[in-house]
Amino acid sequence: MENHSDIAIIGCGPAGAVAGAILAGKGYSVVIFDRDSHPRHHIGESLLPASMAILQSIGMDSQYMQAHHQGKYGARFFDPVANRLEVFGFALPDQGAPPPTFNVIRETFDMQLRDKARQCGCIIHENMAIATVEEEQSPVHIHSESGQTHCCNFLMDATGASAMLARKHRGREMLPDFGRLAIYNYFANVPAPESADPFERQYLTMHLIDGGWIWFIPLRDGSTGVGVVLKSDAIKKDFDLAGQFWAAMKQSPALYDRLSKATALAAYRPIGDYSYHCDPKIGLHHVLIGDAAGFLDPIFSSGVHLAITSAARAADGVDALLSRGEKLALQQYQADMAAGLRVFQAFVERFYQRDLVRNLFFSADKNPKMRAAIINILAGHVWDLSNPLIAMLQANKPANASRADFAGSTSLKELQVASPAPRMATLDTGL
Ligand SMILES: Cc1cc2nc3c(=O)[nH]c(=O)nc-3n(C[C@H](O)[C@H](O)[C@H](O)COP(=O)(O)OP(=O)(O)OC[C@H]3O[C@@H](n4cnc5c(N)ncnc54)[C@H](O)[C@@H]3O)c2cc1C
Repeated sequence: MENHSDIAIIGCGPAGAVAGAILAGKGYSVVIFDRDSHPRHHIGESLLPASMAILQSIGMDSQYMQAHHQGKYGARFFDPVANRLEVFGFALPDQGAPPPTFNVIRETFDMQLRDKARQCGCIIHENMAIATVEEEQSPVHIHSESGQTHCCNFLMDATGASAMLARKHRGREMLPDFGRLAIYNYFANVPAPESADPFERQYLTMHLIDGGWIWFIPLRDGSTGVGVVLKSDAIKKDFDLAGQFWAAMKQSPALYDRLSKATALAAYRPIGDYSYHCDPKIGLHHVLIGDAAGFLDPIFSSGVHLAITSAARAADGVDALLSRGEKLALQQYQADMAAGLRVFQAFVERFYQRDLVRNLFFSADKNPKMRAAIINILAGHVWDLSNPLIAMLQANKPANASRADFAGSTSLKELQVASPAPRMATLDTGL
């Protein structure tokens, strides 16, 4: 192993690979360590349109993505009780233009990102788990489990849910009110829906169930990723994983019926307790990016988008620090990420606590301005302050401060009548 680099990155998932590609592209020597080797399994297939510019900047443009992955034209929310489907389209699937974003097979996608990082000049050590780091000194020392040591001027923690540095500094705070358990599998030969739905495979569809939701993510190889997300009160302690999965699935009877006729491709996998904040996200010689900097419930598919956006913004901050001695850029990164997370988090909280989808999404068609504002957030543009809904969420305005922005909005009024008192005062946006 090399003794020294400008930048070392622990973790070669989307965050680590994108940060590495950008910084190596700027001429820094970058070494990435990962305890696994690609291809490796990872959950999180559904991307957002707002990620596409960053992917393009490292050589994965729409044409490249279209050659390997399933086009995704929007997010759909289905209420099996009311038999109602609401479609939030980023574009129309039958217009011939490249898809606005994609559902990806993560084994392939993450390996492609690693390869881009390597092509940009990163040295990547796979199957090398990092055991400890001494990040408060310069140079930073990194020690692998196998006993090797590497030194660098700056360290990026991209260790995903392992959140190596946040755990070390006890800076990881769980968000227990969000989804607590996901159980998922992949299915082949899923029969087409009975009612005509020719574009189902061009979307991500969420089915609403008591205390959670089901994701239905069509993939390029013809398989479909399906998962159930449950809150604590919906978890049945005496059920096995498959029993729990199918019991939840019964709440969307038509989907249950179709999946019963399909072929499960793997064992049922669980992931639990996955929503948390990590603070601070920066230190003198290090920065946290991706899931290592925090993770929100995946209802709005924000994970990979936040991972690669944080990677790109942190990379700019590291470059400003190392090349010009500017410390403010990384502080700005920390503030920006907190603002983006706040918007998604406000949406997720309202999903679980205030029936956001039924109260706002299913009535948004009455107000085109509100509909456009929601689509903008679902597409991942959470830093767009020209979106009045985002300005409201980020500014944390009191209940009546921004109603003028949606004057005449039946749906906003309906939501306020239907909503119980907010439980998290710091995120009281009035929605
Ligand atoms: C149930 C569920 C569903 C999800 N669905 C979606 C979705 O539809 N869309 C979406 O965008 N996101 C989704 N996500 C989130 C998404 O998977 C993550 O946000 C994304 O993978 C984060 O990327 P990352 O690079 O930060 O971390 P990761 O992809 O987890 O990569 C971290 C890397 O660090 C390595 N590592 C960890 N510790 C060490 C160590 N000590 N030494 C060396 N290497 C180490 C790991 O091997 C790994 O390769 C979902 C998450 C969950 C829990």
